[in-house]
Amino acid sequence: MTGSLPLVFEPPKRAMPPTHLADLDPAGRRAAVTDLGLPTFRADQLARHYYGRFEADTAAMTDLPAAVRERLGAALLPALVTPVTELSCDDGATRKTLWAGYDGTRAESVLMGYPDRATVCVSSQAGCGMACPFCATGQGGLRRNLSTGEIVEQVRQAAAAVRDGVLGEPARLSNVVFMGMGEPLANYRRVVDAVRRITEPAPDGLGISARGVTVSTVGLVPAIERLTGEGLAVTLAVSLHTPDDELRDTLVPVNTRWKVAEVLTAARRYADVTGRRVSIEYALIRDVNDHPWRADLLGKLLAKHLTTRLVHVNLIPLNPTPGSEWDASPRPVQDEFVRRVQAAGVACTVRDTRGREIAAACGQLAADS
Ligand code: SAH
Repeated sequence: MTGSLPLVFEPPKRAMPPTHLADLDPAGRRAAVTDLGLPTFRADQLARHYYGRFEADTAAMTDLPAAVRERLGAALLPALVTPVTELSCDDGATRKTLWAGYDGTRAESVLMGYPDRATVCVSSQAGCGMACPFCATGQGGLRRNLSTGEIVEQVRQAAAAVRDGVLGEPARLSNVVFMGMGEPLANYRRVVDAVRRITEPAPDGLGISARGVTVSTVGLVPAIERLTGEGLAVTLAVSLHTPDDELRDTLVPVNTRWKVAEVLTAARRYADVTGRRVSIEYALIRDVNDHPWRADLLGKLLAKHLTTRLVHVNLIPLNPTPGSEWDASPRPVQDEFVRRVQAAGVACTVRDTRGREIAAACGQLAADS
């Protein structure tokens, strides 16, 4: 890595939260229960409540003896994610939760209801060290990694809320996107463990289909390569934002370390091994990266590196962030950009910008309200 890079890959040393059931794999939770002097079947009983019924309050687990409930709850279900503020818009279909960790650390999650699905956007870090200049989270720097338990708890709470009808009719949480605060692949082990807990069927996990899970990255090449070998069928999203290295060096500063071509090569390997189409994210910024020639170059590069079969471009109209002069592109410019990418044979759609008025849209999470 170059010496002057203003990036923080390793967060400041901060204590991680206490161990939670969701930090543990099946063998680990049985060992933890044995350590408490309890028979191992209690571990699976607890896991069935937690993963199968989204229940984290042992007082409600009436098939456990009262004394056991307290011990298990204190040891394995500490309150890691405590909602502080909830804001909603879009008639209740977009809901942002600001929550506090056990140490007061703050982060945000966003729940979005659609006619055919319900999606939660989770944070993987408190803050972010990637310093992308158009992203509110990037401006505050990295506070600490979130634990696997903290990530899974965001999903478990969202799943319970959706089941209980917070989006209208009771429904099922179908999608989890790692597009909240933080760079998921900079917190690699904890994020991958969280993906396993989210996708494995109960009693080992929440049973959400891996096809409904998206991990979004700035393009940390070695971590993408590692993810390729995990045997997880999650969707990989790459925040490209421009096809040329010169501009990308400033929009996504980690590009000074791993160039566009390297990122796309790693993405192609991921697509080949998993069979999953890669999503390319592109925040369209007026007069910065919205030029017709960039659309042409993007289409050409993606068709070459990923093949049109294995890629999909998600354009995100830039969401305003405090203190930034940047703005979304005018509609005709956006339409022309889409047209040119599609002309290269590459699928391209514009993401709906949910939650702008409650600072819940892409790139607006700052955990400061
Ligand atoms: N660190 C990961 C996860 C964040 S995902 C990543 O960068 O991929 C959030 C997506 O929203 C990323 O593509 C990010 O670049 C994009 N984004 C950030 N700020 C934005 C803004 N102000 N408007 C629109 N999109 C933004």
